[in-house]
Amino acid sequence: MSAYTSEPARFDAIIVGAGVGGLYAIHRLRKLGLKVHAFEAGGGVGGTWYWNRYPGCRCDVESMEYSYSFSDELQQEWRWPERYGTQPEILRYINHVADRFDLRRDIEFNTRVNEAALDSRTNRWTVKTDKGSAAIARFCIMATGNLSTPRTPNYPGLDSFKGQWYHTGLWPHEGVDFTGLRVGVIGTGSSGVQSIPIIANQAKHLYVFQRTANFSLPARNAPMDPAKERSHKVDYPERRRAAFDTPFGIAGYPPPVKSALDATEEERLRAYEAKWAEGGSISFLYSFTDLLINKESNETASEFVRRKICATVKDSKTAELLCPNDHPIGTKRLILDTDYYETYNRDNVTLVDIRSRPIEKIISTGLRTADADYALDAIVFATGFDAMTGAMKEIDIHTDAGMSVREKWEHGPRTCLGIMIAEFPKSIYDHWPAEPRRQESDDTGLRAARRLDRGLRPVPAGSWVLLHRGGGGCRGRLGSAQQRGRGSYALSVGKLMVRRRQHSGETPCIHAVCRWCRRIQEEMRRDRGQGL
Ligand SMILES: Cc1cc2nc3c(=O)[nH]c(=O)nc-3n(C[C@H](O)[C@H](O)[C@H](O)COP(=O)(O)OP(=O)(O)OC[C@H]3O[C@@H](n4cnc5c(N)ncnc54)[C@H](O)[C@@H]3O)c2cc1C
Repeated sequence: MSAYTSEPARFDAIIVGAGVGGLYAIHRLRKLGLKVHAFEAGGGVGGTWYWNRYPGCRCDVESMEYSYSFSDELQQEWRWPERYGTQPEILRYINHVADRFDLRRDIEFNTRVNEAALDSRTNRWTVKTDKGSAAIARFCIMATGNLSTPRTPNYPGLDSFKGQWYHTGLWPHEGVDFTGLRVGVIGTGSSGVQSIPIIANQAKHLYVFQRTANFSLPARNAPMDPAKERSHKVDYPERRRAAFDTPFGIAGYPPPVKSALDATEEERLRAYEAKWAEGGSISFLYSFTDLLINKESNETASEFVRRKICATVKDSKTAELLCPNDHPIGTKRLILDTDYYETYNRDNVTLVDIRSRPIEKIISTGLRTADADYALDAIVFATGFDAMTGAMKEIDIHTDAGMSVREKWEHGPRTCLGIMIAEFPKSIYDHWPAEPRRQESDDTGLRAARRLDRGLRPVPAGSWVLLHRGGGGCRGRLGSAQQRGRGSYALSVGKLMVRRRQHSGETPCIHAVCRWCRRIQEEMRRDRGQGL
């Protein structure tokens, strides 16, 4: 049911999206005493874990870490059955959180926001939806996710295909049975790698169409070890705090002490073998200090994994195709799998190289590459998302001064500290490409929520806050909270901005060349333990 009749309803804050970030925003802003309302395009909470129901979908961060930290009762109560959470299990958890903290009553489901407009006279955002309803608020939180706009390649002929086709990011809720079918999976990123072994178990024949080989490591998933769970729960507060000091945002992995190049060949091999047996991507990249900063060091790890692939996959041509050669390990999302490479030893699985012989079109009976036709009953697009900016660009976000986010980002996203955009005041974006903690946030997902604490924080009257008025970049102005009266909030990383009195008159921008920005980012890194 719509919350509105003819008059737009008024709130303190509107939140777009009810994934893990949006849900936390509802909870947190309510605690600040704000009247909130959320819109969610899907029929339930969970975002990523609501939409991506493909077979094998699983988190690649350990479940004890991929969870909210704002309530100790919650993290003590919840029991994760496995080392890595499956999509159904994570969705169950998110639904539990929504119920436990009574979040649903402020969410309007099956409602997509298609416009957000700022009235600069009143400093209010008006949000419009595909249901024809509208709402007005002082703050607009875009919790729209960075992997939430599925991308299907526009091959000609898809309409003519007589079989069924699916996108992993829009998987049917009732599931799909591939038993006895000839199936084509296009794409070997994380969704492809997770689903391929399970689809191969069902299908009569599976063709995997690969453009780029990616590195994948064994997850070594297992039932939750009760002793580990107990000690993790005892240490939760310290682990969450310590996570701020780690490059991946997850504590508990002993930091490396040695360069790969200072180790002997045997030492390296021993280290990589141990990490391979342990499973997980962070621990593997933690084998040595310089795997992500020195190409030569990285090559020792890349080569180790290539050798593992060749030792696993029996057909040498297939093995060679599966070996990534165009990027150092860890510089693209490092995938975790269960029996991915082993799957290519099955008689009913064929790897097709579409880098050298691209897909030309979809035909009624399947798919045509540059040199062959493949007869298929079903096609699975594991082709990913319009990542990072896709969901934001789908919304017409604009000001009455005629500026729009689409135009502003025509040549790529520009943000203020990754959570705001100059000239779009009082709107906060919770999962951003330019955000200084990008690496950390991507690895735990839920850290999106933490940025809200930094972004929207009551400040004592009289302190300096960023008002985000005037021009963009460094031309914004600082002002006093007193001037704003009751309900002043430091929009942006308030405390850090506050400290920049010497920068008075100029709003720090996100430009890498700006020394103020760089200093503020350094301060942010030191600003651990704030927030949740
Ligand atoms: C298959 C997959 C696996 C992943 N695995 C991991 C992992 O192992 N570890 C990890 O750290 N991260 C992982 N991620 C990243 C994951 O997206 C984040 O961890 C986290 O779930 C993001 O939460 P969010 O709330 O920011 O966004 P989302 O979960 O994407 O939620 C955004 C919500 O906004 C809604 N929305 C968007 N636009 C609109 C609009 N205009 N109107 C209304 N509603 C809108 C969407 O419907 C969606 O429900 C994975 C992502 C995918 C796709």
